[in-house]
Amino acid sequence: MAEITRQMLRDYLHDALPDAELAAVEKALRESAKLRAIYKEVVEQEDRGEHTVGAIWRRERVSCLSRDQLGSYLLGAGDSELLDYVEFHLKTIGCPYCQANLDDLKKAAKPAKK
Ligand SMILES: [Zn+2]
Repeated sequence: MAEITRQMLRDYLHDALPDAELAAVEKALRESAKLRAIYKEVVEQEDRGEHTVGAIWRRERVSCLSRDQLGSYLLGAGDSELLDYVEFHLKTIGCPYCQANLDDLKKAAKPAKK
């Protein structure tokens, strides 16, 4: 049987596992006291909010975007992988620093009104 990872336990907690994996996790939890202890930790961590995307981002230091990258995003230029990452960084993580940078670029891109 595949190893039950913490990520799988978190998904199990959030009811986000495909049925096959759900059954495997439930079975493993019934059979393994060690896994139940890990599951308990996962639940406690979730309760403390340590696994929100923002928390992971702060811990892992997902890199911020350069003005060039943000500029490409505004124009819809650049490779799709980059655009997806920018989208993720801004919308999912909600990085306030890059959002401010983007707003600034948007302002600069607009023709000045008179
Ligand atoms: Zn950022």
